[in-house]
Amino acid sequence: MNILITGGAGFIGSHLTKFHLSKNDDVTVIDNFVTGNRMNIPPANNLKIIEADITNYNFSNLPTFDIVYDLASPASPKDFKNLSLEILKTNSIGLINLLDFFVKSNSGTFVFSSTSEIYGDPLEHPQKETYFGNVNSVGLRSCYDESKRFAEALMMAYFRKYKKDIRIARIFNTYGPFMKKNDGRVVSNLVNQAIDNQPLTIYGNGKQTRSLCYVSDMVEGLYSLAMTENISGEIINIGNPNEKTILEIADIIKKLVGSKSEIVFKEIGADDPKRRCPDITKAKKILSWEPKVALEEGLLKTINYFSKI
Ligand code: UDP
Repeated sequence: MNILITGGAGFIGSHLTKFHLSKNDDVTVIDNFVTGNRMNIPPANNLKIIEADITNYNFSNLPTFDIVYDLASPASPKDFKNLSLEILKTNSIGLINLLDFFVKSNSGTFVFSSTSEIYGDPLEHPQKETYFGNVNSVGLRSCYDESKRFAEALMMAYFRKYKKDIRIARIFNTYGPFMKKNDGRVVSNLVNQAIDNQPLTIYGNGKQTRSLCYVSDMVEGLYSLAMTENISGEIINIGNPNEKTILEIADIIKKLVGSKSEIVFKEIGADDPKRRCPDITKAKKILSWEPKVALEEGLLKTINYFSKI
């Protein structure tokens, strides 16, 4: 198969790239390396890397693809401050460019990486795909939340107008090797602090919850979403429903590392969701997919990765 992955050098993108390369697919990556890293994907004969930004790239020279995955957006809350305009443009202008290319090139299936942030600080728990969300349209997270919501609207407008095969993944918190050490997310922060015996930073009282999905499970979920027949126009949560408080996650990491780190409480960012857990009934039913990697197992692999770099 011929695969295009925008953001294919990022955290999830690079795992997806390597997954398709290992299946002997031909993979083209477009990445501007604003958060991705070329080192995440070693060279291969069946890999082509284009350093470009999808907001202004001329796609006309590219061939037809069997699958187009769009994972081009920065996605860490730290990026919401520094890269807010880039995020807004990527999920609007960038996605329009990519969808226009997808239609014109008569490519096969389009998978868009949306997010659990669509649900904002959710009033429904766990979050089903039918929940409309509770998002502050002018808050610090809005560049990401609202641009992904706009992107979902775009996806559905193209689907309705051009009758093309598109699918939307709502990706929940994902972790694993090749996360950026300093991207500010909870797993990369706490694991690196624990390894260095530095205080573990907990924002707020640590009672907010997240449900962490190991990256290989995420990649298999995205692949199933792309490959399952006759599900054009579907929106599916991909994540692990094993919900934990941030304090519990800190505790597990501390034990697994064998760290002497203390816990320090810091100010929490505005609109930080209090609870987050995917309802994955739809993914189980439609994709026959569910996560397999237990939290401790995935964290050990992540700790091992960060200990070596
Ligand atoms: N968090 C924390 N300490 C950190 C980094 C994050 O307590 O060093 C909290 C953060 O406030 C949030 C949760 O962990 O409630 C997950 O944060 P992350 O940035 O990983 O992603 P989010 O789910 O907010 O997009």
